[in-house]
Amino acid sequence: MQTVKVIGGGLAGCEASYQLAKRGFKVRLYEMKPNKFSPAHTSKDLAEIVCSNSLKSTLLSTASGALKQELKILDSLILKVAEKCAVPSGSALAVDREKFAKMVTEEVQKQPNIEIFREEITKIDINEPTIIATGPLTSQALSSEISSLLGDNGLAFYDASSPIVDAASIDLEKTFSTSRYQKGESDYINCPMDKDTYYSFVHELVNAKKVELHDFEKREIFEGCMPVEVMAARGVDTLRFGPLRPVGLIDNDGKRPFAVLQLRKENVAGDMYNLVGFQTNLIFSEQKRVFSMIPALKNAEFVKYGVMHRNTFINSPKHLNSDFSMKKYPNIFFAGQISGVEGYMESTLSGLIAGLCMARKLSKKPKIQFNNLTITGALCNYISSENVDFQPMNANFGILAPLDTTIKDKQARKEEYSKRAISEMTKIKEAYDLDN
Ligand SMILES: Cc1cc2nc3c(=O)[nH]c(=O)nc-3n(C[C@H](O)[C@H](O)[C@H](O)COP(=O)(O)OP(=O)(O)OC[C@H]3O[C@@H](n4cnc5c(N)ncnc54)[C@H](O)[C@@H]3O)c2cc1C
Repeated sequence: MQTVKVIGGGLAGCEASYQLAKRGFKVRLYEMKPNKFSPAHTSKDLAEIVCSNSLKSTLLSTASGALKQELKILDSLILKVAEKCAVPSGSALAVDREKFAKMVTEEVQKQPNIEIFREEITKIDINEPTIIATGPLTSQALSSEISSLLGDNGLAFYDASSPIVDAASIDLEKTFSTSRYQKGESDYINCPMDKDTYYSFVHELVNAKKVELHDFEKREIFEGCMPVEVMAARGVDTLRFGPLRPVGLIDNDGKRPFAVLQLRKENVAGDMYNLVGFQTNLIFSEQKRVFSMIPALKNAEFVKYGVMHRNTFINSPKHLNSDFSMKKYPNIFFAGQISGVEGYMESTLSGLIAGLCMARKLSKKPKIQFNNLTITGALCNYISSENVDFQPMNANFGILAPLDTTIKDKQARKEEYSKRAISEMTKIKEAYDLDN
């Protein structure tokens, strides 16, 4: 059996190694700890969880819940261990992080086909089957090597993205769609605010609770891009001369609104829109509370919240196929946060898919056709589909194909998405005999 090199012993790298090893491949897993630590890692164990210990909801009314069920069907090692290390956390799956990392390390060490090397990798051999899973804090030397491999500036070092909302949840009655200065077609949905709403909005925005950034993140992120709440704090009218400027916009009554938020299509299908210029560092619940003060977004469903953090990730749509292999160098796969997914479980999933697809490729088995009925397929498609302003994506129902039937009740509709995803993943597993 052929040998595969896996670089990075985080969530994605451990999952990918396990998927290859259980299918009979020899794995050489390289982890730079404890010889070298990223600014956020401190434990010598593999699969270290660096921040929150929550792996999010298990409820089927959430995309995280559906994703966990798909991971279970696909026999995820990380999920199995997480369930064994769970600590009480309501309907979420949270883990005792030390126990979790220790147990994943033991499980990986136990695999006769996996050999672990504690070594920083700085060079990639394009002829050697390799999975790069070095995470959001990939070491500098390897980052330079990856940049050369991509051959362009397709490697980003921080993520500063605006929130994204589900198009169906925007109150279009409270919007208008003319273009600025009425030039050409309008690609935007304009969300006006009157004077009182604007000033209340700015007040709440400035005073809302923010995420504490790590010291190593502060300088580079704020240099690159200013959060909307920091801009707002510079003066009550600053946003009206920035992302909320109304100049050149005329509403349906022929008037210029006091302030206007513009929403731009996030994907070709137009079922998701992002809040233009609203990169933010507010905690997620505050984003929902404050941004829902904009009349058109009163009942908006946030497909993804804005984030501003240190994150090494590649421009996946340009460089990756949907199985996480490189378009240019088919022996090289990416997995985890660096592949353009966002979050612990999503990184685990991409490690699983990269490992599984690498194993099938080396065994000359047919490629798996995942589709947008599953969270897995939707994420695989998202990271590999054309997107001029690509930002990493987490599991959410907005990236799935719409349901065939209309279900008015929100909870029931979400559960239906999950049920369909689980049923589809079960069929895919059988059709492709994914136990082997
Ligand atoms: C500060 C911070 C906070 C975060 N908070 C959250 C959160 O609360 N919730 C959430 O869902 N996600 C969070 N994330 C994202 C989180 O990192 C990912 O969800 C997840 O850990 C990614 O898994 P991964 O396997 O891709 O990377 P990691 O888990 O980071 O694993 C990558 C591994 O590769 C190793 N490595 C790096 N370079 C090399 C090299 N050259 N050679 C060998 N080994 C190397 C690293 O030491 C590390 O062990 C956070 C990220 C950061 C940076």
